[in-house]
Amino acid sequence: MLPKPKKIKKIYLDHAATTPVDERVFSAMKPYFMKEFGNPSALYNLGRTAQTAVTEARKKIAGLLHALPENIIFTGSGSESDNLAILGVVKAHQHKGKHIVSLGIEHHAVLRPLEDLAKNGFAVTYVPVGKDGLVDVEAVVKAIRPETILVTIMYANNEMGAIQPIAEIGREILKYRKAHNTIYPFWHSDACQASEYLDLDVEKLHVDLMTLNGSKMYGPKGVGMLYLRRGVSIKPLILGGGQEKSRRAGTENVPAIVGLAKALELAQKDKAKESARLRELTAYFWKKIQEKIPDVRLNGPAIGESRLPNNLNVTFMNIEGEAMLLYLDEYGIMCSTGSACTSESLEPSHVLRAMGMPFEMAHGSLRFTFGHSNTRADIDYILKYLPAVVAQLREMSPMQSQKH
Ligand SMILES: *Cc1c(COP(=O)(O)O)cnc(C)c1O
Repeated sequence: MLPKPKKIKKIYLDHAATTPVDERVFSAMKPYFMKEFGNPSALYNLGRTAQTAVTEARKKIAGLLHALPENIIFTGSGSESDNLAILGVVKAHQHKGKHIVSLGIEHHAVLRPLEDLAKNGFAVTYVPVGKDGLVDVEAVVKAIRPETILVTIMYANNEMGAIQPIAEIGREILKYRKAHNTIYPFWHSDACQASEYLDLDVEKLHVDLMTLNGSKMYGPKGVGMLYLRRGVSIKPLILGGGQEKSRRAGTENVPAIVGLAKALELAQKDKAKESARLRELTAYFWKKIQEKIPDVRLNGPAIGESRLPNNLNVTFMNIEGEAMLLYLDEYGIMCSTGSACTSESLEPSHVLRAMGMPFEMAHGSLRFTFGHSNTRADIDYILKYLPAVVAQLREMSPMQSQKH
């Protein structure tokens, strides 16, 4: 029999899927929904107020990234930014080469455009990652060919938290260009999962393009941005008005842009402290899981420098992740299997598969991603029920019979 809690506590452990909007972010956004609703392109005062808000947000973000304001293109999401980076570079530079380097563990917002390009005459090299989900810098460099126009590698993985050596890859790409006297390949990184915890200085990372979005950093959903280094030309995907210097048409989402800037400011200000706090929580949780539950394994890098401090991805052998997720939901515990984007399909995570994990093990994985609201008391609550849920499901599991 499974234990019943006296009171069900709501514990959100899916911050890699999305985060709530921070109060301070919401306050900053609020005026631009109603009172200051003007179109930034309008010439009267109301429009100018909106335009100023967008300009200030752009400046603030540029400052945080160590970039120039004109390097920032606001978009409608992280997915749009990834598409703009990849397809925008391709449209402008495909006459120079039709080869791209990436990883098999990228987000679908990168993989799908690459798959589409591969059907249309492009070659894509997916550099393999190790069992820990990390890519070898040298292997990336080796994959670059004379016809490579773009390298796109994510900063931090959304499923198992691997932090790739982005700065080192950037340095090697600079060396390659110098040695070969070329401006190619351009260098893009999807940093959607990095904004809360990692350094986003584009000069230190040597990126030419970098994707960020609001919904993973306590900002609003449905807003993103692309950093674009001066001198890197891209073609727009959305045509229309001249907004964003004709690189992305459409009336600016003023409240969301203001929110994005505020969220990024707060995230970068608090990142050291919050990283340390969450690393301790995840380490504690993992230690207790190992103590209380047999046959578990941690997916992705060891807890430490190469792993996002808020991510714990665990395989509970001989169980279906989906079943566990639903049982845990009964206790108010919200986590995920694989990524939210694939939860409607029963395919196991493409990320864990790309790390060489067998099908059944990928199926039994759960992702817990911690955030601002979580405390040690949350973990202690979960630990009261998790071992019993695992034991019960293992007893019921048809996979049990496959165990040697
Ligand atoms: C969430 C996420 C995206 C997509 O961002 P949206 O704003 O949801 O479109 C892209 N890449 C990574 C790594 C993400 O975590």
